[in-house]
Amino acid sequence: MEPTHADYLIVGAGAMGMAFADTVLQESDATMVIVDRHARPGGHWNDAYPFVRLHQPSAFYGVNSRALGADTIDQVGWNAGLYELASGTEVVTYFEQVMQQDLLPSGRVQYFPRCDYLGGGRVRSLVTGETFEVAASTTVDATYMDVRVPSQTTPAFDLASDAWCVPLNDLPTLDRAPERWVVVGAGKTGMDACLWLLANNVDPARITWIMPRDSWILDRSKIQPGAEHADGSLANFAAQIECSAKASDIADLFERLEAMGALLRIDANVQPEMYRCATCTKAEVEQLQRIEHVVRMGRVRSIEADRIVLEGGEIPTTLNTVHVHCAADGLARRDPKPVFDGDRITLQTVRHCQQVFSAALIAHVEVSYQDQARKNELMQVVPHPNSASDWMRTALGNMLNSARWREDPELLAWLAAARLDGFTNLRTGEFETDAQKRAMESIAENGLAAVVNLQRLIAEADAAPAN
Ligand SMILES: Cc1cc2nc3c(=O)[nH]c(=O)nc-3n(C[C@H](O)[C@H](O)[C@H](O)COP(=O)(O)OP(=O)(O)OC[C@H]3O[C@@H](n4cnc5c(N)ncnc54)[C@H](O)[C@@H]3O)c2cc1C
Repeated sequence: MEPTHADYLIVGAGAMGMAFADTVLQESDATMVIVDRHARPGGHWNDAYPFVRLHQPSAFYGVNSRALGADTIDQVGWNAGLYELASGTEVVTYFEQVMQQDLLPSGRVQYFPRCDYLGGGRVRSLVTGETFEVAASTTVDATYMDVRVPSQTTPAFDLASDAWCVPLNDLPTLDRAPERWVVVGAGKTGMDACLWLLANNVDPARITWIMPRDSWILDRSKIQPGAEHADGSLANFAAQIECSAKASDIADLFERLEAMGALLRIDANVQPEMYRCATCTKAEVEQLQRIEHVVRMGRVRSIEADRIVLEGGEIPTTLNTVHVHCAADGLARRDPKPVFDGDRITLQTVRHCQQVFSAALIAHVEVSYQDQARKNELMQVVPHPNSASDWMRTALGNMLNSARWREDPELLAWLAAARLDGFTNLRTGEFETDAQKRAMESIAENGLAAVVNLQRLIAEADAAPAN
């Protein structure tokens, strides 16, 4: 068979691969081949639990050229008063529309669903078993973020054959009501499982929550689009810079961030060790605080018929208790690689926890700049955070990248106009209100000190034995 030719071979039609392809389509005349194991675009959203929603507003998600959702304000539920969060079904439908209505009709994109990329330009159809070759000038790895969802992973603990354990996907379809629910995992997926149970009127006394680490949580009310939020968003950013500039030590930094409202936690008496961009409203955190039986004994080692063995002890269980697997490492902290490396592009985050924005921006840089060193200089990776101290690393990475981008007028103009960038346009406007002017003055006053102080605090964290 003749190889299929294209300028770009994009491996992965998840959110990042799609966001990259969209910007290349809009800003160049390049051709693309997209391959993915899934039968539909959207990546992990195809495997997500039925009650999943975006954690951050739809306004900042998807591909740059097409809006997701209608910017409505939720009227009911624990996100009431804030901008809408697309459901998993909406996200998958949206990416299907991008593929069918934008990418494929261009005549410049070929899409091979249910195909496994084997490396070296070779692709195998998971439907027919046949292999074929793609000859492309550049291969784009849109799989590197390695997203894992519980329905696709086996629990990393032993399970007795008669123990009842399900991924959270199965919660809405259990064929009988259990005596108790044990939620295993305290990342955003575990929080979503608990919130779903509470929203369905489960008495919190019947829930046990296994929490190996407590998490710092981003307050969603501070991450909102819309002109009406511009004052608050800019003030929030300025206050975080001020905290970073003035914190005497790491404990003081988190005290300040919590006091100014950037970070929330579930238990005021426990110092969180985890920060992975979990995002909730205050109303959701208040709901989670209703669960009193929180087990802090490390990770689960095994679930047996009558007991759960954890790293730090054991607790009783029963055969009539459902154990809800929420312990997949959704977004692992992966070692950063150069984004541009010869004929290979590896999509990674260049602003923390902003995957689709990052993929679109990388595509823009790819088609707009020639020199590889310059491209990599602009696209410094800000790896996905894991531990609490990673808050400092990501804040510093964001600030340094923003400073680099602001020195390039063309890039700054692109960012200010980009739908997926909910941030740069806040800092390039006329600053009409007093609140905005005050925030900009504060950023100017504290920006450099924040960089220096964060570098000092990161060195302190690196020297400490853990976290
Ligand atoms: C529950 C949940 C909610 C989230 N909410 C938000 C949010 O509100 N806002 C936000 O910005 N981010 C959110 N995220 C982060 C989210 O992970 C990213 O935004 C984004 O969806 C990640 O997309 P991706 O393309 O990197 O990965 P994936 O979705 O995993 O896509 C990678 C694709 O590559 C394919 N693939 C892998 N290997 C191969 C191979 N060898 N051959 C062929 N195909 C291959 C896979 O089949 C997959 O389809 C959320 C994540 C989760 C888990």
